[in-house]
Formats: sequence, structure tokens, C-alpha cells
Amino acid sequence: MKTQVAIVGAGPAGLLLGHLLRAEGIECVVVERQTGDYVLGRIRAGVLESITVNLMERLGLDARLKAEGLVEEGFNLADGERLIRIDVAGLTGQTVTVYGQTEVTRDLMDAAPERGLPVLYGASDVALHDIESDAPYLTFTHEGRAERLDARFIVGCDGFHGPSRKAIPASVAREYERVYPFGWLGILADVPPCNHELIYANHERGFALASMRSHTRSRYYVDVPLTEKIEDWSDERIWDELAIRLGPDAAANITRGPSIEKSIAPLRSYVFEPMRHGSLLLCGDAAHIVPPTGAKGLNLAASDVHYAAQALTGFFKANDADAIASYAAKALARVWKSERFSWTLTKLMHRFPDDGPFERAMQVAELDYIATSRAAQTSIAENYVGLPV
Ligand SMILES: Cc1cc2nc3c(=O)[nH]c(=O)nc-3n(C[C@H](O)[C@H](O)[C@H](O)COP(=O)(O)OP(=O)(O)OC[C@H]3O[C@@H](n4cnc5c(N)ncnc54)[C@H](O)[C@@H]3O)c2cc1C
Repeated sequence: MKTQVAIVGAGPAGLLLGHLLRAEGIECVVVERQTGDYVLGRIRAGVLESITVNLMERLGLDARLKAEGLVEEGFNLADGERLIRIDVAGLTGQTVTVYGQTEVTRDLMDAAPERGLPVLYGASDVALHDIESDAPYLTFTHEGRAERLDARFIVGCDGFHGPSRKAIPASVAREYERVYPFGWLGILADVPPCNHELIYANHERGFALASMRSHTRSRYYVDVPLTEKIEDWSDERIWDELAIRLGPDAAANITRGPSIEKSIAPLRSYVFEPMRHGSLLLCGDAAHIVPPTGAKGLNLAASDVHYAAQALTGFFKANDADAIASYAAKALARVWKSERFSWTLTKLMHRFPDDGPFERAMQVAELDYIATSRAAQTSIAENYVGLPV
């Protein structure tokens, strides 16, 4: 098989990129390890910045997003005593949209056949070859047959555990990492949300987040030590803990119900450089991870894809090799700022095991400052809606 761009991974980054390239008439093939059903079964992000909404709009795949997505004009930080509302729309003139990553993926997946985007699900043993040349290729097994896919570029959209990043030689690689000493225990339930806007709470028992996927589906989190086992957390125990950590006002509005998904996700900040090496570009979680505080992961994948599509379109349609050369620097500038925001919000809203009274006093002082300063709220709001691309 031969194509112009071979894309590894059919998560949101890979599918978005595939659609953007096809819209420009560029040939590409997406190769995915899992089945389509498995990909859709993963419950992940749910807050979309305008970059992500705009890309779906540009592709004409935003009908369901516009019909079902919830436009959010603000969110709240809770410090155990009060809700500090960040008036995102009032401070920035922009909003975010609550629409699950699963739904974005479903919309992209459903439109792939009619847009001429081939997606090979269930491909095993994907390996990258000759990425330092102008003729890289993938090998893999698909439907029992050994396959080879030749391309001019490979784009690694294969998440944190995929093979693409590992294909870049260690001699040029730089890794930056912070692993957090807790994970987020999430519960998804078909119950109305306790509040129409997200609440991030820093309670003395730990962090909690009240969020939603729709008017009838809620997503809540509490942070737990990494040693905790999901089997030890019955639904009732999670609802009890949420009611305490989110504070009495939110607790009064919590509707309890059976979980339809429950899991513990570890938290990590991670950046890999360079995001391009030879004929290989990396996008999304393949190159970086943010803790979910601030909801940046999916949106960063979308902004990488925006820059990658620009670079590849420049290369194929305007013969502009510089477009490829400048991809990594453009993407990384935005990645680092999102890393900074996610890390700052994580530090502000969680109790770290090594923190003493001083660190706690700093959190209290900072939350108090945010509560009383329009400048501080504006800074948070403009990062939350997403920095410009
Ligand atoms: C449990 C969890 C909860 C999260 N919650 C949030 C949240 O609340 N808010 C937020 O903003 N972000 C959240 N994120 C992050 C967000 O989901 C990711 O940033 C986003 O999925 C990145 O998209 P991606 O396409 O780069 O990677 P992925 O979605 O990971 O997609 C990568 C794809 O590559 C495929 N792949 C992997 N290996 C191979 C291989 N060898 N061959 C072929 N294909 C391969 C995978 O199967 C997958 O389909 C969460 C992540 C996790 C894991």
C-alpha cells in the first residue's frame, strides 16, 4: 500500500488529522491497533475549547456537537467554604463546550467512509521504519495479513503508549516529566449534574471535580492515593466522598445513581521533544500528557493537529518544506503553556502528601487572591478557554 501520510492511531488526534488532510485532497491512511468499539468505549475528556469546536465546524462535522453540546460560560473553584466563580465569558468573550471525547470520536469515525478516509482497525504489531529518510513506511498485521504502508510522512497519533515516539532515537530525545502522587477516581452515571457549571474543589479531605457530559449524564472525580483499588470504592462510598468534598451547597443537589463507568487514572505531566524527527511528526498524547485538571489533553491534541495539518498542506500543496520544519516549534510553544496551566491548577487544587502548613497557607492565600482579583480571574479564564493558535 502507498499513501502520502500514514497516521498511527485513530483516537481524536489521528481521526481529526485524517479528516483535515482529506479535506485538502491529501491521501492518508489511519492504522489503529484496537477495534472501533473499543476506541468508543474509552471514557475520557469532555470539555472542548474553541480550537476543537472550530476544527469540527471547519470539517462540517459539528451538527451533533452544536445540537447536544452544552455551552459553558464559566466554572467554579471551591475552597471548602465558598464557590469562586470564574466568569469565563464575561472575562474573555469566549466559552467552552461540554461534549464527550467519545462523541467527538464517534462523529469523526462515522464520517470517515463518506469522506474517503481509510481507517484500518485491529492492526497489530505496528512498526515504523526509515523515519529519517524521505520514504518512511509502516509494517503491521491486518486481518491476518502482513502489510506494508509506504508514505512521504508518518504522523504518530498513537497516544502515550504507542510506538511512534519510541522510534525517535534516544540521542535526540528530551523528556520532561512530573508524576503526581495521586490518581483521579472517576465515576460516570446517568444522573443530572449537581451544578450547571464545573466545580473544582480543594477540600481538606482532598480534591473533587463535579462535571458533566450532558443534562442527564454526570462525570465526577475524587483524588485518591495511587495505592487505592477501584474494588474498594463502591458507588455509595464515592457519592459520600463527593458530597463531603464538594461542600454542602453542591452536595444538596447531587443526584446519586449507579455507575456506568468507574476507574482510577494516574496523573502525569510529560513533554517529549522534538515533536518532529525526519519524516515523523508527533501529535497529541504521543508527545505530551497533562493532568486532567483544566481539561487540556484533548484540546492540545487538537491544536497539534491544526499545526500538523497546516504543515503537511503547506508541503504537499505549496511545496513548502519550511512548513514541516517549523511544526515542532509552533506546537511546543502552545504545549508548554498548557502544561504550565494544568500544573498550576493541579498544585492549587490538590493536597500533596509532603505538603505542610506553609504549602496549605499558600493555597489558601492564592484562592483568596483569585476570589478578589479580576486580573487573576482573567488570567485563569483565558487559559481555561484555550490560548490562541
Ligand atoms: C483515563 C483518562 C481520562 C482522561 N480525562 C481527560 C479529561 O477529563 N479532560 C481532558 O482534557 N483530557 C483527558 N484525558 C486526556 C485525553 O483523553 C487525551 O489527551 C486524548 O485522548 C488525546 O488524544 P490522542 O488522539 O492524542 O490519544 P489517544 O486518545 O490515546 O489515542 C491514541 C490512539 O492510538 C492507538 N494506538 C496505541 N498504540 C497503537 C499501536 N501500537 N498501533 C496503532 N494504534 C495504536 C490507541 O488505541 C488510540 O486509539 C484523559 C485521558 C485518560 C487516559
